[in-house]
Amino acid sequence: MKKSKAFHSALLNWYNPAERPLPWKGIKNPYKIWVSEIILQQTRAEQAIPYYHNFIAAFPNVEALAKAPLDKVLKTWEGLGYYSRARNMHAAASDITSKHKGKLPASYSQLLNLKGIGPYTAAAIASFAFDLPHAVLDGNVYRVLSRYFNIASPINESKSKKEFLNYLNKVFAPKKAALFNQAIMDFGATVCTPKKPFCSTCPFSNDCLALKLGQVNELPKKTKKHVKKDRYFHYLLVQNKEELLIQKRTGKDIWQGLFQLPLIETSLDAHTDYLEASFQKQFKTKTLIKLSKLEERTSVLSHQNIRTVFWQAELDRKPKHSLREALWIKKNDLSTFAFPKMFDLFFKQFSLI
Ligand code: SF4
Repeated sequence: MKKSKAFHSALLNWYNPAERPLPWKGIKNPYKIWVSEIILQQTRAEQAIPYYHNFIAAFPNVEALAKAPLDKVLKTWEGLGYYSRARNMHAAASDITSKHKGKLPASYSQLLNLKGIGPYTAAAIASFAFDLPHAVLDGNVYRVLSRYFNIASPINESKSKKEFLNYLNKVFAPKKAALFNQAIMDFGATVCTPKKPFCSTCPFSNDCLALKLGQVNELPKKTKKHVKKDRYFHYLLVQNKEELLIQKRTGKDIWQGLFQLPLIETSLDAHTDYLEASFQKQFKTKTLIKLSKLEERTSVLSHQNIRTVFWQAELDRKPKHSLREALWIKKNDLSTFAFPKMFDLFFKQFSLI
């Protein structure tokens, strides 16, 4: 108990909310807090600011988000990646409208029932918007606790979570939940940083066990990740003077619901003959096709490496495509469709947008 009080007094004395101003900091609007927390799961605070403003401008409240077509939500999310977060927000907004009269519920367990809201986000909304006594456990908090208490359990294993939550609840200040949560996350982001933490000026330098034991650079621990899967995506640029063929991703897979160029996926690198035959098969066409490679790149995602090759497809006539979810669009309309981020570079490079 003594230690708990010492921890949160030192933390709250150190904390100056004005020092790292962010548009969502200190606000009480649960919808805006929710939006900011989901965006922050995708990118660092400084980079999140323009995305946050754009999203709020496009969908100023729950009702606007619920009513918006999913394509528009995905388009606004473009650039942040991991689009299932945007899809979940859209679904949750509908639920909030139908079950909670358009207002985010002021209850941790009801927040947790909404799609895409896990324990971290529920605790953040509950504490920041409603001052409910729930402590947040994000990457910054894991690092601070791991060092302060010298905890060697790997932070990326779910079985460690309970242990960290126990330590967190020991030092938590439930009557000042919002302030405490903001302070500990800011402290992790600015003082107890992943590399070269500022131990010499840290308010915990007398108590921090990792510092005492010379373990600061060893903590937090993580177990090694699984081997990533390699995938090969061959995108075909099928176009005429004014139009371009695009396709919607529908399966349960990355980038679900976004648009792409017609795709042939292979498990290994593929020869052009194979791709030309696959194209004819997919499009059920006898149209002659000749492929020439435009460029290659590799995208490193959390569970997979995607080697992408863009091909220029020359056809002798416009195929009557029968590929599901494929459509011819005017090139001028290209920027109104939501594509995975890497297409942006490609379209710019080849002057398509
Ligand atoms: S002394 Fe160093 S490692 Fe310990 S909490 Fe402070 S900044 Fe983090």
